[in-house]
Amino acid sequence: MSLKISSALISVFYKDGLEPLVRLLHNQNVKLYSTGGTQAFIEQLGIPVTAVEDLTGYPSIFGGRVKTLHPAVMGGILYRRELPEDLAQAERHRIPPIDLVVVDLYPFEETVASGASDEDIIEKIDIGGISLIRAAAKNYNDVVIVSSRSQYGGIVDLLTEKKGKTDLSDRRRYAGEAFAVTSHYDTAIQAYFAGNTAEETDSQHIYDFKTLPPNHLRYGENPHQQASFYGNLDAMFDKLHGKELSYNNLVDVDACVSLIDEFPATDGSAAFAIIKHTNACGIATAPTPKEAYLNALSCDPVSAFGGVVITNVAVDLETAEELTKLFMEILIAPDYSTEALSLLKSKKNRILLKRNAVALPTVMFKTILNGVLEQDKDNQTETAEQFKTVTEKAPTDSEVRALEFALKVCKHTKSNTIVLAKEGQLLASGVGQTSRVDALRHAIEKAHSFGFDLAGSVMASDAFFPFPDCVEIAGLAGITAVVQPGGSIRDQDSINYCNEHGLAMVTTGVRHFKH
Ligand code: 5GP
Repeated sequence: MSLKISSALISVFYKDGLEPLVRLLHNQNVKLYSTGGTQAFIEQLGIPVTAVEDLTGYPSIFGGRVKTLHPAVMGGILYRRELPEDLAQAERHRIPPIDLVVVDLYPFEETVASGASDEDIIEKIDIGGISLIRAAAKNYNDVVIVSSRSQYGGIVDLLTEKKGKTDLSDRRRYAGEAFAVTSHYDTAIQAYFAGNTAEETDSQHIYDFKTLPPNHLRYGENPHQQASFYGNLDAMFDKLHGKELSYNNLVDVDACVSLIDEFPATDGSAAFAIIKHTNACGIATAPTPKEAYLNALSCDPVSAFGGVVITNVAVDLETAEELTKLFMEILIAPDYSTEALSLLKSKKNRILLKRNAVALPTVMFKTILNGVLEQDKDNQTETAEQFKTVTEKAPTDSEVRALEFALKVCKHTKSNTIVLAKEGQLLASGVGQTSRVDALRHAIEKAHSFGFDLAGSVMASDAFFPFPDCVEIAGLAGITAVVQPGGSIRDQDSINYCNEHGLAMVTTGVRHFKH
């Protein structure tokens, strides 16, 4: 049933972003009730609002612990508009209706994460707000519940479109999301009482992801697929410019983040990666960001078109001048200089993200058959210390650094894969092939097509070589050093070929399939 909102109770912790909703409600002749801080916010907008104390006849007491917990408030939300007995009781007790409830809860999780004292944390357990949400969600037949600040934009759009009215299906949807908010909130409180660390609490959220408020995406991998993201993107990124992130954007951003985290800026060099469909089509490290970007781009400037670009360092103007020449979907950086940002903002649709340091889940899920697979993320990276030279010739220092680089990229590339690199630059990769030989052939052909001479380059393989064919092809192409897990019963055939042709090979003992 379509219902017009006549009155609203607004009680929110964060007032940011509330103004458009308050103005819209005022323009739609909605009577506003509010609690202390929110009331002051609305009044300074010059919009009339009634204090909830005037409704209850009670002041806010016990340091704000009891503000809205009163029959006049709960009754106004909960009474059934179509029941004559309820209507009579509401009239007898002078309880006016409250048709819309807008709540943004005390920030319990943020308070825990900030390392606040137990006393402060306990004070941030919202009581009245949770009760308002539950009451309004229970009575979704008559009441609309906006239960988090992430919904302000959505409700403004809805009430604008429907001229202050809502349909039962709208109210039911908001009620469902409200219970997701309360359930998530209580799970966080429970985790705090159980003494979980921040990281455990984080991964707990992953397991209970359906209790997070969904971020509805325009569509999924294809336009006919519906999709949502469950998580707090706002914590992870500040969106500085551009349109909404799509499903495919999010998948590529995730691939970017995982890859670039292999190259911490603390190692003293800038890194740039360009991702297409989750695989790197260019990545390089260099002393300056501009050099790193240009080297990453030169790997495959054709695929880079429309890619997602990430760096581990702040973007400066000279790098931005190069970046702006490329059509890219998204750029992700830990920071931007003011000049770089204003230049990059010149393209309307380019999404610019500033990445914040946020702990990521250590597990991953995938639905298969009639269940779900869970596994640890592949968070292991082998460096020179784990390399075991199995050939007569050992790799040179420069080859060792190139092998480390190639292996990091290999780990984040779809299997079967072969990655060809030199020190600090990807030359080409064979991606997602059904045989490793195909992957290598593809990589060599690609490297040649972009003008790279493979003499003295190195090769990384995600898994062992069952036959010596890969090293034979690599040797002919001029590749001089190889890293692979080892462990095939025919390892010795590949090693023999390397010894006969002057290649160096190291094994790691660790496979990095990525399917
Ligand atoms: P305000 O800034 O308007 O004074 O307070 C808004 C906050 O108070 C919101 O986060 C809301 O969830 C919370 N709140 C509303 N009513 C009550 C109540 O009766 N008790 C407690 N502890 N919190 C309340």
